[in-house]
Amino acid sequence: MPDRPAHFPALAVACPTCGSAPGQLCTSHSGTRPRRHDVHQTRTAAHNAQTRSTQ
Ligand SMILES: [Zn+2]
Repeated sequence: MPDRPAHFPALAVACPTCGSAPGQLCTSHSGTRPRRHDVHQTRTAAHNAQTRSTQ
C-alpha cells in the first residue's frame, strides 16, 4: 500500500470540527497531526447533508 492519504468523499467539504479546508485532511487537536485514515464524523455528516441537498 502506498503511504499516502486516502481520498475521502468528505474531503469535498470543510470540516466543522477541526476547520480543515476542502481537499485537506482532518487534523487532530491544534492541527498538529493529520488524520490520514479517517475524517471527523461531523465532516462526513456535513458532506452527506450537502450531497443530499444537491440531488
Ligand atoms: Zn476534521
